[in-house]
Amino acid sequence: MSNWRYPGPITEEDPILILDTGTLALTENPLPEVVGAQLAKIKAPPGINPRIWDEIHNYRYPSKRKLQCCLFWTSNTKKNSAKTYINAANSLLTDHNLILDICPENAKKTTERTIEFNELVDISHYEELRNLVHRNHRHNGRIPIIFCRFAGSLGGESHDTGMTINIEHWLPFILINDDKEIMDNLTLLHEIGHASNCEHVNSGNNAAVHNFMDYPPPKRVGILKKQVIKLARSYFAREA
Ligand SMILES: [Zn+2]
Ligand SMILES: [Zn+2]
Repeated sequence: MSNWRYPGPITEEDPILILDTGTLALTENPLPEVVGAQLAKIKAPPGINPRIWDEIHNYRYPSKRKLQCCLFWTSNTKKNSAKTYINAANSLLTDHNLILDICPENAKKTTERTIEFNELVDISHYEELRNLVHRNHRHNGRIPIIFCRFAGSLGGESHDTGMTINIEHWLPFILINDDKEIMDNLTLLHEIGHASNCEHVNSGNNAAVHNFMDYPPPKRVGILKKQVIKLARSYFAREA
């Protein structure tokens, strides 16, 4: 499972790659009518079996799931991109029967949700930030999302837009860099993907669809079946 790679553009000549994604064999019985019928938002390119395409790209989780988040801001943040990120995430999630459940609902930076913290965040601050959030607001079964300002020394993609933090004694939580923006506004959803155990899935330059775990980010528009399932089963997901 951990070695799973998106095969890139799917063609009928590549049944093994298609099987590799853990989805249907080409010869299996037709899918129930519901799959693809309500969706087809991402259409199969010419020459590709639309049934297989829909099973991978337009998969709907069987029950509606909400992904529960609690938002926080450090006191040195200047703007609030939360709404933009939430809207972009939901515009992809709804077709797959998933939705963000945001606390506070209006996603506004209020004094109650502001953490007294004025430094640029680096690796030495993760535990402190998580503890401050815990002291500030406890809400079971939800993932904390902290809008803050990143120090330039953070490695990898982290100095850009967001990162998911895994430290001892805590479930994964998310930091979003208040100083940076990204074209497709999918930073929050991408990090929620990491917190749900989704890895990067690079689909290559000529892929028909770039999924939300593609990185570095092209314009990302899709969620693959395996990713939908992981999101729906994350520690912060519940029946909607
Ligand atoms: Zn909350
Ligand atoms: Zn990533």
